[in-house]
Amino acid sequence: MSAAIEVENLVKIYKGGVKAVDGVTFSVRRQEIFAFLGPNGAGKSTTIKCVIGLLHPTSGVIRVQGVDVGHDPGVVKRTIGYAAQETAVDDRLTGWENLYLQGRFYRLSRAEIRRRGEEVLRLFGLWERRRDLAETYSGGMLKRLDIACALIHRPQILFLDEPTLGLDVQTRRVIWGYIERLREEHRMTIFLTTHYMEEADALSDRVAIIDRGVIVALDTPGALKARIGGDLITLRFAADGTPVEGVLSAIRALPGVREVRPASGGIHRIVVEQHGDRLIPEIVRIASKQGMEIASIRLKRPTLDDVYLHYTGRDIREADGGREELLKTRRMRMRIRR
Ligand code: ADP
Ligand code: MG
Repeated sequence: MSAAIEVENLVKIYKGGVKAVDGVTFSVRRQEIFAFLGPNGAGKSTTIKCVIGLLHPTSGVIRVQGVDVGHDPGVVKRTIGYAAQETAVDDRLTGWENLYLQGRFYRLSRAEIRRRGEEVLRLFGLWERRRDLAETYSGGMLKRLDIACALIHRPQILFLDEPTLGLDVQTRRVIWGYIERLREEHRMTIFLTTHYMEEADALSDRVAIIDRGVIVALDTPGALKARIGGDLITLRFAADGTPVEGVLSAIRALPGVREVRPASGGIHRIVVEQHGDRLIPEIVRIASKQGMEIASIRLKRPTLDDVYLHYTGRDIREADGGREELLKTRRMRMRIRR
């Protein structure tokens, strides 16, 4: 069976000469959650728009479920759902009316829209609020409604461009829960873009880090982190000043331990390849066997932040606007529609 999405050497140069995507190659497996992680301007939205046939690539090949998008954009559009970076929800309509319009757009029958509309609104926790105007919705509800609209025609692949942009952390987590359910219960393939590290880390099976139109790394979040350095375990014994060398050399001999650094402040640092959590019980056992009591033991994992810094030499700056930012982009979008 073909991959859900295959992209080979995608290049997109906008009129005026901006090279937004500069030779990107990746594929997304069926039922995978795949994330593009990168800062503003990296080329994430441009890539999505090319993949779903909204933009013509300058060069490259794109196949969605084995179908060449360049040859058959209509087929592709019917099998995918797309929630743009700017929500397409109309404030002056109720939740249900927004959904209904979207259903008509896909030429679904009234009965189909009723059946499917109830299903997606319930799925996204909006059923009770369906008769309220969208202008009374919170930022998180607007985004949920927008994603629900993208699901009305039962797509097999869902494209989410910055699904939690500008939302607070709690609201983001709620949306992550909904995205995970789509994959688990509805066996969807999900391609999302984000510039939030935690989002890519928490949600995706694999992450492509994109910077200036180029994929600089692509792997599982765990493998990306493991590649730049292992876990770090910090350890403090209860009785300061007692000889610890015996314990530390036994720890050093454990498989997977890369380095043990005895520290003057009483906190010893143990660098391990990976799976630090599995080594902690071992370390506790060694200490107690040698009659040493551990006062505290902590595990720190390298974050995707560390990974990003490693591959690009720069920090991702978080643009944080909240509901206002979301509304601004939405107004822009509505003006375009009118
Ligand atoms: P991202 O989604 O990662 O923030 P985009 O794909 O929106 O990045 O943009 C990538 C680059 O292409 C940026 O430099 C942006 O300014 C430029 N760009 C985006 N859309 C257009 C357009 N319609 N015309 C010209 N340049 C564009
Ligand atoms: Mg974008």
